[in-house]
Amino acid sequence: MDFNLSPDLIQMRDTVEKLMRDVAQPAAKVAEREERFPREAVAKLGAEGVFGTAFPESVGGSGLGFQSVSVISETVSRLEPGFGYCMNLQGMTCPLTIFNWGTDDQVRRFVPDLIAGKKIGMFALTEPGGGSDPAGNMKTTARKQGDRYLLNGSKMFITFSDEADAGVLFAKTDPAAGHRGITAFIVEPKRFKGYRADPVRMSGLSRAFRSCAVFLDDFEVPEENRLGNEGEGFKIAMTALEYGRLTVSARLLGLAQACLDAASDYARTRMIRSGPIGGTQSVQHLIADMTVNVEAARLLVRRLGWTMDKGDPAGREAAQAKYFASIAARHAADAASEIFGGYALADEYPVRKFSGYIDMLNMGEGAPAVQRTLIAEDTLGFKDANRHVTPPRRGSVG
Ligand SMILES: Cc1cc2nc3c(=O)[nH]c(=O)nc-3n(C[C@H](O)[C@H](O)[C@H](O)COP(=O)(O)OP(=O)(O)OC[C@H]3O[C@@H](n4cnc5c(N)ncnc54)[C@H](O)[C@@H]3O)c2cc1C
Repeated sequence: MDFNLSPDLIQMRDTVEKLMRDVAQPAAKVAEREERFPREAVAKLGAEGVFGTAFPESVGGSGLGFQSVSVISETVSRLEPGFGYCMNLQGMTCPLTIFNWGTDDQVRRFVPDLIAGKKIGMFALTEPGGGSDPAGNMKTTARKQGDRYLLNGSKMFITFSDEADAGVLFAKTDPAAGHRGITAFIVEPKRFKGYRADPVRMSGLSRAFRSCAVFLDDFEVPEENRLGNEGEGFKIAMTALEYGRLTVSARLLGLAQACLDAASDYARTRMIRSGPIGGTQSVQHLIADMTVNVEAARLLVRRLGWTMDKGDPAGREAAQAKYFASIAARHAADAASEIFGGYALADEYPVRKFSGYIDMLNMGEGAPAVQRTLIAEDTLGFKDANRHVTPPRRGSVG
């Protein structure tokens, strides 16, 4: 068993690290000040191939596989967590879902521009009635009228939905059929009328990378933009969430590492009485627990990338990685907060910012409580964690 990253992945991680410092961090500062989405920086990262590593060269990717996504997502989130959203929306849940389930024409029209950062993507599943049971709570409907569908209803917390050029959105074409009545659509908010996205002000989160409430009022989707068949939406969504858990768990890992790095620097330099606070046993215990949690989370996240690269179903590994990365990151944020003392609250230090993103990611792609249920039901033999995973129509990527 080799726990080392390949030379290619190390080189790619170093390149991404440089891009984050040279492009993303300065852009995020301006974007935050102006409360403006940093479109140019997203396009620049896209042009450098940051979002396309899980895709084949035929659509503009680099074919490095899913482990590369885990390494890049961790690096991006560690250095500028706002851009971490792009790892899902420009690099995974939105374009990969279109790649996996779309027709050749749909793939050609959307995937290259999404992974190049030229089109901004979104993934719209959650509704106001609750995200943990998207099928049970889905009220949005899609009614066929001639050569188009008219969508009515609302979505909640949809990231980038006020910026998106294209996205995957789920609605019920047959409301009486439960989860079998859900259909996936590729939506184009800027092309068709009947769409509104109102940003939700989120405490502790970015004002530049926004999540919104989305309102659909006879919103038009041409029939050619239906993704898969009518009624296939639920399995498309479940498969997308499994891929999404790779980026989300890697982003949590990056934030846990960021908390550990910041807390270690602080513990080495903050002097109390005759020495650094890192010399006290209580601070050392916190640093030790953070270190071991981060390393354990990293192993689970890498195992998930490795399982996906083998082309095996990865529902089990995805739930475990997401759940443990949540625990490690939450613990790291709390421990960092304790080590920073009152300065944890000061804007000049990053602890509160990391903590806000960790809270958000704990919910994204399934709350910790939901992952726990999945894991326990699988271990007890009640329900197979891989039951929802459908091999992608287009086969394995990378
Ligand atoms: C900033 C942000 C960005 C987001 N971006 C997107 C996006 O781009 N696209 C998108 O579709 N969604 C997005 N979401 C939504 C996110 O996926 C949901 O918040 C998440 O699925 C939880 O849904 P909920 O908030 O409605 O909580 P609920 O479903 O109401 O759950 C609340 C709590 O109830 C408990 N609970 C619920 N169900 C169960 C269960 N079955 N077993 C055990 N406990 C349970 C858990 O403790 C859970 O934490 C985003 C959310 C945030 C905060």
